[in-house]
Amino acid sequence: MCDDRMRIILLGPPGAGKGTQAERLAARYNIPTISTGAMIRAEIRDGSELGKQTKKYIDEGQLVPDSIIMSIVESRLSKPDCAKGFILDGIPRTIPQAQKLDEMQIEPYTVLNIAVGDDEIVKRLGGRRVCATCGATYHETFNPPAKKGVCDACGETLSIRPDDAEETILKRLAVYHEQTEPLIAYYEKAGKLINILSEGGVEETAAAVQAALEVE
Ligand code: ADP
Ligand code: ADP
Ligand code: ZN
Repeated sequence: MCDDRMRIILLGPPGAGKGTQAERLAARYNIPTISTGAMIRAEIRDGSELGKQTKKYIDEGQLVPDSIIMSIVESRLSKPDCAKGFILDGIPRTIPQAQKLDEMQIEPYTVLNIAVGDDEIVKRLGGRRVCATCGATYHETFNPPAKKGVCDACGETLSIRPDDAEETILKRLAVYHEQTEPLIAYYEKAGKLINILSEGGVEETAAAVQAALEVE
């Protein structure tokens, strides 16, 4: 794959490590990461109309409707910084979202499916700590900051995302299996899928991602 047109879709269950790998890929290839989850959380914090419309879905661990998501994605992808490539972190999450992306003709692109079992997901999301200021993500034990509870990058206090409560984690996993997992077959059929086994740690997964992209 040609570096200046690096277009990557990160697929996988909630908590698989998509955001963590996206941070590294964005720095390495100097391309933007598009995370609808992060964009919507910012809208909710700002109290915008879009934030008000979407908050209930996020709080309940449900997906935000396809029409809202795809209008956010379409306008973000039209910005000039996406011309040299981009990383879609957690988009698409449904077959209609994937079909809409295909209609938008973002080809060529590669789908990296970060495969992690449900038990490990519960551990990863249960220990996730985030920096609301700069977006950095940590894990209490698997990827801790240098100083407990403090962001390495910007020094702010880390927090737990409300939707990382155990009950909501289980709901999000059920939603994943029902609505997002069918995308694996969708992209496999299209010849775009690369599976990344992520039972190892952050570094091991990053090495697997790098190896997969170098073969492309
Ligand atoms: P995670 O990385 O833990 O999966 P995200 O930040 O990607 O979390 O998403 C958080 C929430 O935002 C999701 O549970 C869902 O409600 C909403 N969301 C984000 N992206 C999408 C999408 N592509 N389609 C529908 N809902 C989305
Ligand atoms: P996603 O964006 O898919 O929801 P994140 O990147 O936010 O996932 O990762 C979820 C949690 O798991 C975070 O606390 C992160 O530090 C941790 N994590 C990410 N990758 C790994 C890994 N390979 N091994 C162990 N923990 C990981
Ligand atoms: Zn920070």
